[in-house]
Amino acid sequence: MRLRKKPWVAEALTGFSNIVLQNPNEDLKGKWAEVFGNDLPLHVELGTGRGKFIAGMSELYQGQLNFAGIEAQQDVLYYAAQKVQDRELPNVRLLVFDANEILTIFAPGEIDRLYVNFCDPWPKNRHAKRRLTHVNFLEKYRTVLKPGGQLWFKTDNQPLFEFSLEQFQEFGLKLDNISYDLHNSGFAPNVMTEYETKFSTLGQPIYRCEITF
Ligand code: SAM
Repeated sequence: MRLRKKPWVAEALTGFSNIVLQNPNEDLKGKWAEVFGNDLPLHVELGTGRGKFIAGMSELYQGQLNFAGIEAQQDVLYYAAQKVQDRELPNVRLLVFDANEILTIFAPGEIDRLYVNFCDPWPKNRHAKRRLTHVNFLEKYRTVLKPGGQLWFKTDNQPLFEFSLEQFQEFGLKLDNISYDLHNSGFAPNVMTEYETKFSTLGQPIYRCEITF
């Protein structure tokens, strides 16, 4: 997702002081229950984008789950913060942060579930390590997830989906509910992302699976 950089966004994000965590660093590690003021299970989305999914999920599971959304681009996260603020959702925090660095801000076993939705496919082989489902990322996910914790993965990109299934299997992970056409699979509730809405409107099937660590 390429956007022209908006100079006012950094300052605007400071206005979402209860939603967007400023300067995320190792002080957060092991402290997520304190951030939310409760010890509800923690679900984390990597590559949150404009926030349709995390806002929808946190609304649906208010009082049951806490959500953290990690997004590398501050210009995109601004729109996610607006959605969270407009719906007055108490159970979600957003961070401008690189998923590569998740070991810095989460303690081992601190996360109950990860979501990777429509991550950048990085189609060139030489960029495979940048895909959020590459085994190098799975190593990190295994550390921050609770034993038995899950990754829920959705994409519109068939080559990326097949690559990812291979990575999960190579890593010895258990796969469940593999779907090659999510929207005709009966899975519910399926909270859609921005990309999911866009690609399914164009008639593109959506691929999904659940991975247990
Ligand atoms: N998940 C959203 C959706 O489905 O509508 C956005 C999908 S968009 C194709 C991928 C998003 O992941 C972009 O917003 C991008 O900035 C973010 N992203 C890519 N690599 C990332 C990383 N290493 N850490 C955090 N976010 C990342």
